[in-house]
Amino acid sequence: MNQELLEHILEVSRQLAETRTLIPLLERIMVEALHLVGAERGYIVLMQIDGTLDFRVARHYNGTPVLDADDQVSRSVLIQTIEKRQPLLLRDAMNEAYFNQQNSVTFLKLRSVMCVPLITRGKAIGAIYVENRAVRGRFREEDLPPLVIFSNQAAVTIENVTLNEDLEARIAERTRELEDERALLTQRVAERTLALSAANAELVHAAHLKDEFLATVSHELRTPLTAILNLTEALQLKIYGELSPKQEKALQSIHKSGYHLLALINDVLDLAKIEAGALELAINLVFVKTTCQASLELVQEHATKKRIQLLFEYDDTVTTMMTDERRLKQILVNLLDNAIKFTPEDGQVGLKIVGEAAADRVCFIVWDNGIGISPEEQRLIFQPFVQLDSSLTRKNSGTGLGLAIIKRIVDTQGGEISLESKLDQGSRFMVGLPWHKTLSLPL
Ligand code: ADP
Repeated sequence: MNQELLEHILEVSRQLAETRTLIPLLERIMVEALHLVGAERGYIVLMQIDGTLDFRVARHYNGTPVLDADDQVSRSVLIQTIEKRQPLLLRDAMNEAYFNQQNSVTFLKLRSVMCVPLITRGKAIGAIYVENRAVRGRFREEDLPPLVIFSNQAAVTIENVTLNEDLEARIAERTRELEDERALLTQRVAERTLALSAANAELVHAAHLKDEFLATVSHELRTPLTAILNLTEALQLKIYGELSPKQEKALQSIHKSGYHLLALINDVLDLAKIEAGALELAINLVFVKTTCQASLELVQEHATKKRIQLLFEYDDTVTTMMTDERRLKQILVNLLDNAIKFTPEDGQVGLKIVGEAAADRVCFIVWDNGIGISPEEQRLIFQPFVQLDSSLTRKNSGTGLGLAIIKRIVDTQGGEISLESKLDQGSRFMVGLPWHKTLSLPL
């Protein structure tokens, strides 16, 4: 084989490597092979994974497809070539045992056949089969080596493209799967979001209905309860005649329970109003010391009964502030009352005021050296209807709403409430409310 032919084969092989898809590659290989050896027709078969032969390309010298390629080629030549991994040259096909029975020889006057295995990494992946009647007459021995060299080059390119196509197919499949999964996920998220916002809207509506219901019911309960309390008081004042000691005791009990019920209803009404966003604050100029003293006076009797010392520590930088006086009093009385309630006899309860000019905040601290609150319970305490289970709590009637209401009043004003407490040592509630110092009176 001359140098020129070898270089031509290598150049063609280099060009083949640029084709990235299998069928166009096989077509180019076929045409090049036909031209290389001057064959009339050619076929490329590839081995399938299951070992069967697959006719991938069949071409005439001029490039047109050969019809019914399957019938025209000797399978035994192909199988032998692939199995033995050896090229085969049959110069005189007519006289070969492979062909003398076949139409291709008798009718098509087939003269000569070359079959070369496509070998890569020691494995035959298929074969190139070329045949001749007339183009250049019979093949010669020297036609075989160029075809073998070309086939070896072609086999590598075919394998690369096959692996590449396989890889691309797998990537495409995985990408499709991922896209499907993503689409499914997006759809689920959308469905879930829709369901959640519907549920949310229902909850908001239900909460609103609950608040309205509570406000209405509380209001309706107050009217007959006031009548009961008024009549009880009238009976106690003996307006309807004398009472036996037992009747008086029973009336006292009715009166006490009635007032407790009224307190409860008032708290429920208050909380329902606040939750419904109907808390109206009457913000005015408030003399803080006066309000604190008034609050202390309101709980003084309760403290005296338990021989509890009430201490008041005032910060003179605080004269006035802009707030709702009634609500401030409600906060202080509630906290002081709780402090007294949950402090054993002979204990101490205090109110301390601190003006924080830099933060424009007035801090109200109510402390006691009573039973204290455990850390777990501290987390629950500002929720409605929480009454911690201690013997002092059970001894003292309460609604479990006071702190929940205080927290909401404080929040509405943009203030904050916090708590420090240790069991058996006492509690310290801190309420910080906006001072609005610039709007307050100067010292
Ligand atoms: P109540 O009307 O029952 O006092 P609150 O909301 O005011 O309702 O208080 C809730 C619960 O928090 C009380 O029942 C009590 O268990 C606990 N608590 C409140 N203040 C104190 C305190 N100063 N010391 C100990 N426990 C307290």
